Amino acid sequence: MRAITVHNVSKIYGKGHAAVKAVQDVTLAIEPGEIVLIMGPSGSGKTTLLSMIGTLLRPTEGSIVVGDLATRSLNDNQLADLRLESIGFIFQSFNLLSALTAKQNVMVPLIAGGAPKREAGKRAETLLTRLGLGERINSLPADLSGGEKQRVAIARALINEPKIILADEPTANLDSETGHEVATLLCEIACNENRAVVIVSHDPRLRDVAKRIYTIEDGKLIKEEAGGHNKICPVRHT
Ligand code: ADP
Ligand code: MG
Repeated sequence: MRAITVHNVSKIYGKGHAAVKAVQDVTLAIEPGEIVLIMGPSGSGKTTLLSMIGTLLRPTEGSIVVGDLATRSLNDNQLADLRLESIGFIFQSFNLLSALTAKQNVMVPLIAGGAPKREAGKRAETLLTRLGLGERINSLPADLSGGEKQRVAIARALINEPKIILADEPTANLDSETGHEVATLLCEIACNENRAVVIVSHDPRLRDVAKRIYTIEDGKLIKEEAGGHNKICPVRHT
């Protein structure tokens, strides 16, 4: 089954003279195991498109299908359940809760999904350890480096084992080496765990981890090309 189908999607903010066409007639499909990069300058509609794919924002026109669910027919509670179960989000600014430790941040989606606290804690520890943060489990975000914070955020996005990972400028606040580490990690998540990963960014370093690269300009996809994904992940399990 396809992970995501975006069909003729547009988003217009505001009305009349003040209307902004942020996304115009975008169509694309993403399969499980694929990592897709959507590149474009600031203001080109990247966050708007990703928010619609993630069902945080309803399109003005067109349809978004997640797995086999047509999201338009779902109400807000059903969409919240769908996101909790099927979609992990990663943001430029990490969005960690500053009063919670790394482990507690990663536990949040599990607790929201009704998992018992003990079990949630164990799973969070296992995943953080796997992502190289075994020594940082009880650290607060303020005591972590940028790369560590983003890995905690990636663990939080992965903890419910969602089929889809959406990342908005995930390397923008990272130095070159950590940015590369985070990019490689996202690439491995796609090819080793058969998840669909969509990254929006203007960071050209991400070109090497993507399977396909789209260019977005003024809300329109104007170009599709192959990325360097096969250099990093030669084996695809789809
Ligand atoms: P990007 O993420 O590529 O920088 P955005 O999706 O944030 O682009 O924005 C695309 C366009 O939509 C921009 O012109 C922006 O000013 C406008 N825009 C974004 N969010 C809103 C909003 N909530 N209300 C009105 N206009 C918006
Ligand atoms: Mg943006």
